[in-house]
Amino acid sequence: MSITQNLQQIRQNLPEHITLVAVSKTKPITALQEAYDAGQRVFGENKIQEMEDKFEALPKDIKWHMIGHVQSNKVKYMAEFVDLIHGCDSLKLLKEVNKQAKKHDRVINCLLQIKIAEEDSKFGMTPEDAEKLLKSEQFAKFNHVCVTGVMGMATFTDNEQQISSEFKLLKSTFEQLKSIETENCKLKTISMGMSGDYKIAIEEGSTMVRLGSSIFGAR
Ligand SMILES: *Cc1c(COP(=O)(O)O)cnc(C)c1O
Repeated sequence: MSITQNLQQIRQNLPEHITLVAVSKTKPITALQEAYDAGQRVFGENKIQEMEDKFEALPKDIKWHMIGHVQSNKVKYMAEFVDLIHGCDSLKLLKEVNKQAKKHDRVINCLLQIKIAEEDSKFGMTPEDAEKLLKSEQFAKFNHVCVTGVMGMATFTDNEQQISSEFKLLKSTFEQLKSIETENCKLKTISMGMSGDYKIAIEEGSTMVRLGSSIFGAR
Protein backbone atom coordinates (compact mmCIF):
# COMPACT_ATOMS: atom_id res chain seq x y z
CA MET A 1 0.00 0.00 0.00
CA SER A 2 1.09 3.57 -0.62
CA ILE A 3 1.90 6.13 2.06
CA THR A 4 -1.38 7.88 1.26
CA GLN A 5 -3.35 4.67 1.69
CA ASN A 6 -1.55 3.79 4.91
CA LEU A 7 -2.31 7.21 6.35
CA GLN A 8 -5.96 7.02 5.36
CA GLN A 9 -6.36 3.64 6.96
CA ILE A 10 -4.63 4.65 10.19
CA ARG A 11 -6.62 7.88 10.47
CA GLN A 12 -9.89 6.04 9.94
CA ASN A 13 -9.30 4.01 13.06
CA LEU A 14 -7.71 6.71 15.18
CA PRO A 15 -9.93 8.40 17.79
CA GLU A 16 -10.26 12.10 17.00
CA HIS A 17 -8.55 13.40 20.13
CA ILE A 18 -5.33 11.59 19.27
CA THR A 19 -2.50 13.41 17.50
CA LEU A 20 -0.72 11.38 14.86
CA VAL A 21 3.00 12.06 14.57
CA ALA A 22 4.33 10.68 11.30
CA VAL A 23 7.82 9.43 12.15
CA SER A 24 9.79 10.11 8.98
CA LYS A 25 13.36 9.48 10.16
CA THR A 26 15.63 8.06 7.41
CA LYS A 27 12.89 8.58 4.79
CA PRO A 28 13.49 10.81 1.75
CA ILE A 29 11.83 14.20 1.20
CA THR A 30 9.58 12.67 -1.49
CA ALA A 31 8.03 10.34 1.09
CA LEU A 32 7.34 13.23 3.45
CA GLN A 33 5.90 15.26 0.61
CA GLU A 34 3.49 12.44 -0.21
CA ALA A 35 2.33 12.31 3.41
CA TYR A 36 2.02 16.10 3.39
CA ASP A 37 -0.10 15.98 0.26
CA ALA A 38 -2.32 13.43 2.00
CA GLY A 39 -2.93 16.02 4.72
CA GLN A 40 -0.30 15.08 7.31
CA ARG A 41 1.17 18.10 9.11
CA VAL A 42 3.00 16.68 12.14
CA PHE A 43 6.31 14.90 11.50
CA GLY A 44 8.74 13.31 13.93
CA GLU A 45 12.49 13.01 13.45
CA ASN A 46 15.21 11.71 15.74
CA LYS A 47 18.28 13.48 14.35
CA ILE A 48 18.53 17.25 14.49
CA GLN A 49 20.58 17.67 11.30
CA GLU A 50 18.15 15.55 9.30
CA MET A 51 15.17 17.42 10.71
CA GLU A 52 16.80 20.74 9.83
CA ASP A 53 17.41 19.65 6.23
CA LYS A 54 13.81 18.50 5.87
CA PHE A 55 12.51 21.68 7.51
CA GLU A 56 14.39 23.72 4.89
CA ALA A 57 13.05 21.64 2.00
CA LEU A 58 9.39 21.27 2.93
CA PRO A 59 6.35 23.55 3.43
CA LYS A 60 6.51 25.81 6.47
CA ASP A 61 3.18 24.82 8.01
CA ILE A 62 4.64 21.47 9.09
CA LYS A 63 5.03 20.92 12.83
CA TRP A 64 8.39 19.31 13.55
CA HIS A 65 8.67 17.05 16.58
CA MET A 66 12.05 15.91 17.90
CA ILE A 67 11.43 12.38 19.16
CA GLY A 68 15.01 11.22 19.65
CA HIS A 69 17.49 11.72 22.42
CA VAL A 70 18.77 15.28 22.41
CA GLN A 71 22.27 16.41 23.24
CA SER A 72 22.38 19.85 24.82
CA ASN A 73 24.95 21.17 22.36
CA LYS A 74 22.62 20.48 19.41
CA VAL A 75 19.55 22.30 20.73
CA LYS A 76 20.59 25.52 19.03
CA TYR A 77 20.09 24.00 15.59
CA MET A 78 16.37 23.39 16.08
CA ALA A 79 15.40 26.16 18.50
CA GLU A 80 14.05 28.37 15.74
CA PHE A 81 11.47 25.95 14.42
CA VAL A 82 10.92 22.83 16.53
CA ASP A 83 7.31 22.47 17.69
CA LEU A 84 7.70 19.85 20.41
CA ILE A 85 10.67 18.04 21.97
CA HIS A 86 9.55 14.61 23.22
CA GLY A 87 12.72 13.33 24.85
CA CYS A 88 13.56 15.80 27.62
CA ASP A 89 15.08 13.97 30.54
CA SER A 90 17.13 16.44 32.59
CA LEU A 91 17.11 19.91 34.06
CA LYS A 92 20.35 20.58 32.22
CA LEU A 93 18.71 19.92 28.85
CA LEU A 94 15.67 22.06 29.69
CA LYS A 95 18.01 24.84 30.75
CA GLU A 96 19.65 24.78 27.33
CA VAL A 97 16.27 24.63 25.55
CA ASN A 98 15.20 27.65 27.59
CA LYS A 99 18.37 29.55 26.68
CA GLN A 100 18.07 28.84 22.96
CA ALA A 101 14.31 29.49 22.86
CA LYS A 102 14.91 32.87 24.48
CA LYS A 103 17.28 33.84 21.66
CA HIS A 104 14.42 33.30 19.22
CA ASP A 105 11.90 34.97 21.49
CA ARG A 106 9.74 31.87 21.70
CA VAL A 107 8.49 29.29 24.14
CA ILE A 108 9.36 25.70 23.22
CA ASN A 109 7.01 22.96 24.30
CA CYS A 110 8.65 19.89 25.81
CA LEU A 111 7.62 16.46 27.08
CA LEU A 112 9.43 14.74 29.91
CA GLN A 113 10.58 11.29 28.91
CA ILE A 114 9.75 8.78 31.61
CA LYS A 115 11.49 5.43 31.79
CA ILE A 116 8.68 2.88 31.77
CA ALA A 117 10.35 -0.07 30.06
CA GLU A 118 11.84 -2.89 32.00
CA GLU A 119 14.63 -3.31 29.47
CA ASP A 120 17.76 -1.37 30.12
CA SER A 121 17.46 1.83 28.17
CA LYS A 122 19.70 4.72 28.95
CA PHE A 123 17.04 7.38 28.65
CA GLY A 124 14.14 8.60 30.68
CA MET A 125 13.52 9.86 34.19
CA THR A 126 11.83 8.16 37.09
CA PRO A 127 8.41 9.59 38.03
CA GLU A 128 9.99 10.85 41.26
CA ASP A 129 12.74 12.74 39.46
CA ALA A 130 10.21 14.23 37.06
CA GLU A 131 8.17 15.52 39.97
CA LYS A 132 11.24 16.97 41.66
CA LEU A 133 12.27 18.70 38.45
CA LEU A 134 8.85 20.26 37.85
CA LYS A 135 8.72 21.54 41.43
CA SER A 136 12.27 22.88 41.48
CA GLU A 137 13.10 26.55 41.83
CA GLN A 138 15.41 26.40 38.85
CA PHE A 139 12.74 25.04 36.54
CA ALA A 140 10.31 27.73 37.67
CA LYS A 141 12.66 30.32 36.17
CA PHE A 142 12.61 28.81 32.67
CA ASN A 143 10.00 31.01 31.07
CA HIS A 144 10.90 30.03 27.52
CA VAL A 145 10.07 26.38 28.10
CA CYS A 146 6.67 24.82 28.73
CA VAL A 147 6.36 21.19 29.77
CA THR A 148 3.14 20.04 28.17
CA GLY A 149 3.22 16.32 28.87
CA VAL A 150 5.09 13.06 29.19
CA MET A 151 6.54 10.56 26.74
CA GLY A 152 7.48 6.93 27.11
CA MET A 153 8.53 3.85 25.19
CA ALA A 154 7.41 0.36 26.16
CA THR A 155 9.68 -2.65 26.08
CA PHE A 156 10.11 -4.19 22.63
CA THR A 157 8.27 -7.47 23.25
CA ASP A 158 5.32 -9.60 22.12
CA ASN A 159 4.02 -9.70 25.67
CA GLU A 160 0.97 -7.44 25.43
CA GLN A 161 0.35 -7.56 29.13
CA GLN A 162 3.77 -6.20 29.85
CA ILE A 163 3.29 -3.43 27.29
CA SER A 164 -0.08 -2.56 28.85
CA SER A 165 1.33 -2.35 32.32
CA GLU A 166 4.21 -0.13 31.17
CA PHE A 167 1.78 2.23 29.46
CA LYS A 168 -0.36 2.21 32.61
CA LEU A 169 2.67 3.42 34.52
CA LEU A 170 3.07 6.36 32.13
CA LYS A 171 -0.62 7.22 32.39
CA SER A 172 -0.53 7.15 36.20
CA THR A 173 2.65 9.24 36.22
CA PHE A 174 0.87 11.76 34.04
CA GLU A 175 -2.12 11.87 36.39
CA GLN A 176 0.19 12.32 39.36
CA LEU A 177 2.18 15.15 37.75
CA LYS A 178 -0.87 16.88 36.31
CA SER A 179 -1.67 18.50 39.64
CA ILE A 180 1.52 20.55 39.29
CA GLU A 181 0.09 23.46 37.37
CA THR A 182 2.44 26.38 36.95
CA GLU A 183 3.27 29.04 34.36
CA ASN A 184 5.56 26.62 32.50
CA CYS A 185 4.02 23.28 33.39
CA LYS A 186 0.68 22.52 31.79
CA LEU A 187 0.33 18.80 31.26
CA LYS A 188 -2.08 17.63 28.60
CA THR A 189 -0.13 15.22 26.35
CA ILE A 190 0.71 11.56 26.82
CA SER A 191 3.00 10.57 23.94
CA MET A 192 2.98 6.78 23.80
CA GLY A 193 2.53 4.19 21.09
CA MET A 194 4.56 3.21 18.03
CA SER A 195 3.61 1.08 15.02
CA GLY A 196 3.78 -2.18 16.95
CA ASP A 197 1.97 -1.13 20.10
CA TYR A 198 -0.14 1.97 19.45
CA LYS A 199 -3.47 0.19 19.74
CA ILE A 200 -2.57 -0.88 23.26
CA ALA A 201 -1.30 2.64 23.98
CA ILE A 202 -4.63 4.13 22.93
CA GLU A 203 -6.50 1.75 25.21
CA GLU A 204 -4.25 2.89 28.03
CA GLY A 205 -4.89 6.58 27.48
CA SER A 206 -2.41 7.84 24.89
CA THR A 207 -3.14 11.25 23.38
CA MET A 208 -0.29 11.21 20.83
CA VAL A 209 1.04 8.27 18.83
CA ARG A 210 4.34 8.19 16.94
CA LEU A 211 4.06 6.00 13.86
CA GLY A 212 6.87 5.37 11.40
CA SER A 213 6.94 2.00 9.65
CA SER A 214 3.15 1.61 9.51
CA ILE A 215 3.00 4.80 7.43
CA PHE A 216 6.25 4.82 5.47
CA GLY A 217 7.14 1.12 5.41
CA ALA A 218 10.10 -0.60 7.02
CA ARG A 219 13.32 1.33 7.52
C1 LIG B 1 11.45 5.35 15.38
C2 LIG B 1 10.61 5.79 16.51
C3 LIG B 1 9.21 5.68 16.47
C4 LIG B 1 8.46 5.02 15.32
O1 LIG B 1 8.71 3.67 15.27
P1 LIG B 1 7.87 2.69 14.31
O2 LIG B 1 7.99 1.37 14.96
O3 LIG B 1 8.50 2.75 12.97
O4 LIG B 1 6.45 3.18 14.31
C5 LIG B 1 8.49 6.17 17.54
N1 LIG B 1 9.09 6.75 18.60
C6 LIG B 1 10.43 6.87 18.68
C7 LIG B 1 11.03 7.53 19.87
C8 LIG B 1 11.23 6.40 17.65
O5 LIG B 1 12.57 6.53 17.74
